[in-house]
Amino acid sequence: MSSFSCPHFDVANDYCLRLRTDCVPGRKGCVLPADTGFLIPAEERVRMLEEEKRKQRASTPPENRKGMSTP
Ligand code: SF4
Repeated sequence: MSSFSCPHFDVANDYCLRLRTDCVPGRKGCVLPADTGFLIPAEERVRMLEEEKRKQRASTPPENRKGMSTP
């Protein structure tokens, strides 16, 4: 087991500065080697994150959506 610190990770915003989207280690375009193993595949984590964001947008009134990112 090892730890990883990415120079592209914006800690304050939990954001990938390289890909200009949410940091999901191992996602397409990520600097991690393609053969890096994850308990949950990156594609599945991206799908889960997008689904969570969709639910969050659906439950937020339009006037309060400023600053919410769109997929
Ligand atoms: S998605 Fe990959 S490249 Fe981007 S911040 Fe996360 S670990 Fe770094």
